[in-house]
Amino acid sequence: MEKEPDINKVVRQHADMDDFFTGGFAPRTTKSNQEKTKGNQSADDIKIELEKIDDEVHRCRKCQLGSLRTNAVPGEGNPNAQIAFVGEGPGADEDAQGRPFVGRAGQLLDKVIAAMGLKRSDIFICNILKCRPPNNRDPRPEEIISCLPYLQRQIELIKPDVIVALGAHAARTLLNTNKPIGQLRGQFHEYYAGLGRPPIKLMATYHTAYLLRNYSQDNRRRVWEDMKKVLAELGLPIPQRKQ
Ligand code: URA
Repeated sequence: MEKEPDINKVVRQHADMDDFFTGGFAPRTTKSNQEKTKGNQSADDIKIELEKIDDEVHRCRKCQLGSLRTNAVPGEGNPNAQIAFVGEGPGADEDAQGRPFVGRAGQLLDKVIAAMGLKRSDIFICNILKCRPPNNRDPRPEEIISCLPYLQRQIELIKPDVIVALGAHAARTLLNTNKPIGQLRGQFHEYYAGLGRPPIKLMATYHTAYLLRNYSQDNRRRVWEDMKKVLAELGLPIPQRKQ
């Protein structure tokens, strides 16, 4: 019997091939604050390149989700962000508005961001999938394979110091693993950014949609512990919080 393809391996190979053919071999400088330049690109240059990706995403028909969406949701935020939050895919509210994390899970994410002492405009927020899967079903491997190059290019432009993967789908896709989120969260991993590029620190944590469904003190504390590690990694102050 033929062996099932290993989706994570396929995705990673795609990443390599993509990188190889687009020739992104530029080394990046490590940045410790938002003032530093990202390689040779100014924030304006990055913004222009991100807008080009947005245009492509809005025209994209690489998978069936392209014909089912109301709006594509490329992602948004600060082109100089130190942190990129990556979720799974747009839900109904995001599909209606064309913006990431604007529904209930997004409102909770806003609270997490505010608790970190940050504003939405400080960070970049996007998803693995840029179009909503019908009835919010799980992303399919072929959809991830079609869509991932957009996210890879966004990350390559923004060069965040830390990626926060929200939930199992984002964490597993970006880390090329099938491990459960309970095992992945709470510690830094490395996002493989492609040939010739330095890896990016990745913190996996629970998705805010999961948190809404399982709103226990323990789960909230776990997410907050994860975010404190992100702040510490970036050398940012950790706001004191009532538990
Ligand atoms: N859930 C996600 O994963 N992404 C969104 O943009 C909204 C909800």
